Amino acid sequence: MFESLSERLEGAFKQLKGEGRISEINVATTVKEIRRALVDADVNYKIAKEFTDRVKDKALGEKVITAISPGQLMVKIVKDELAELMGNTEVEVDLKANPTIILVAGLQGSGKTTFSGKLANFLKTKKARKPLLVAGDIYRPAAIDQLKVLGEQIGVEVYSEPENKNAVEIAQNALKHAKQNGNNVIIVDTAGRLAVDETMMTEVANIKAAINPQEILFVVDSMTGQDAVNTAKTFNDRLDFSGVVLTKLDGDTRGGAALTIKYTVNKPIKFVSMGEKLDTLDVFYPERMAQRILGMGDITTLVEKAQEQFNEAQAKKLEKKIRQNQFDFDDFKEQLQQIKKMGSLKDLLGMIPGVGKAVKDLDISDDAFKGIEAIINSMTPEERGNPDLIDGSRRKRIAKGSGKDIQEVNQFMKQFEQMRQMMKTMNKLPGGAKGLKGFG
Ligand code: GDP
Repeated sequence: MFESLSERLEGAFKQLKGEGRISEINVATTVKEIRRALVDADVNYKIAKEFTDRVKDKALGEKVITAISPGQLMVKIVKDELAELMGNTEVEVDLKANPTIILVAGLQGSGKTTFSGKLANFLKTKKARKPLLVAGDIYRPAAIDQLKVLGEQIGVEVYSEPENKNAVEIAQNALKHAKQNGNNVIIVDTAGRLAVDETMMTEVANIKAAINPQEILFVVDSMTGQDAVNTAKTFNDRLDFSGVVLTKLDGDTRGGAALTIKYTVNKPIKFVSMGEKLDTLDVFYPERMAQRILGMGDITTLVEKAQEQFNEAQAKKLEKKIRQNQFDFDDFKEQLQQIKKMGSLKDLLGMIPGVGKAVKDLDISDDAFKGIEAIINSMTPEERGNPDLIDGSRRKRIAKGSGKDIQEVNQFMKQFEQMRQMMKTMNKLPGGAKGLKGFG
């Protein structure tokens, strides 16, 4: 995401390389380049112009600090302005009411239903809520089934009335049902059309009036750029929504929607959705997003994701095993699975400063883990717990069972052995395996 914008901005900053200070002349060229980059990322010209005017004023007004080069100064100014444009601080969903009513609206195909599932999962696993999903799309029978499938995957109840053609009534009944069943959040997924039309707008507005939601989240496909921003405007004029959800940020989006929606409708982006897996919903942090756009990575998110997956008890258990030189294939597999839960490998690497750019063209698929997992899965429980058991003939059997070449199995065994040796060496150092704490 935003790759081409990132590259163009980097090019713009390069123009200041070698310059001793910021001047009217060198700032003008850089700023022009930044403006072009923004427009090419599908940012409306007027917004791009205002943005770069502010950057220019700030840069020229800045006192010359010798420790900072003009290039670095410019990066800092642009980062602050990007964060400001996207809303500066994060705004969470308001969950105070019981039940909290969340209405989800947007065009068909924007990712509404997928998002509803992700949100329910997020509220269940991260906010300890008991959500109820409501199928409010009365036009597409398949939409009810889709929501039911999602609900089943995440263990969340789905309320639907397949025979009822009155969406307002369904929403009201769902609310009653939620109160009787102790659901403290209800998420109403509404019908969408391919383009904004009056019937759809009236219907959503009627649902809003009938159930009085605390949150109305407008879902928009970030790949649609300027169109996304225009649709947001139309929905907001009618619904006065409380927040935006940007979907498909994993795709080849140029970034325009993410950058300008907040500015245009003056409503915060609350979530971003990347991918179809139900556990990939992220709260939107404008500052972190600005850093990622500028290739500064996003260590904060990376650390948070790690903290979510690795708990203290597990870390202690692992540390003990490493200290006693007992790290085995079961531990290895457990570690792999935890890393996988943090998100896509390429995405994670992209959060490390400087690495995102380096890996952007590499084909890093999460299948890389699959081969290793297949090898470990083909071992017997005894072999997994006691790696030293695995001799030549066992390796052959493992290769056959996992569908891998014997060379691949040998290579993996060698790497595993090297890792164990490294752990042993560390154990001999003062402080021992404590040094590995961050690892587990
Ligand atoms: P709805 O019509 O608004 O309810 O949209 P859906 O939730 O059915 O999504 C439309 C299509 O987009 C489906 O094929 C989804 O799998 C896909 N989709 C939804 N969200 C994302 C996302 O964040 N990333 C990607 N790549 N695809 C998504």
